[in-house]
Amino acid sequence: MELSMAIRDRFSKKLNCPQCGNAGFAEASEIDDPRRKHPDFNVDQLPRGFAVQRAANHQESFMIKCECGRKFPFRSLAETAAERR
Ligand SMILES: [Zn+2]
Repeated sequence: MELSMAIRDRFSKKLNCPQCGNAGFAEASEIDDPRRKHPDFNVDQLPRGFAVQRAANHQESFMIKCECGRKFPFRSLAETAAERR
């Protein structure tokens, strides 16, 4: 018997625009399962002034666009490196 339950890990993260200082909390989710090819990352809710520039399966390549025009990844590579040991 095989149990394959894909549980989506939901979390919130504060987004900060490095250009205009616009900030707010985004609601996001991904699947924490190493057997998967990718975490199927998705942003469920964005704070005011932010929009999706380009959706991706990873936080580091999921691009957010601020109303000021600045584009940046949902999660920077520097943040990822800081959390992995
Ligand atoms: Zn901005």
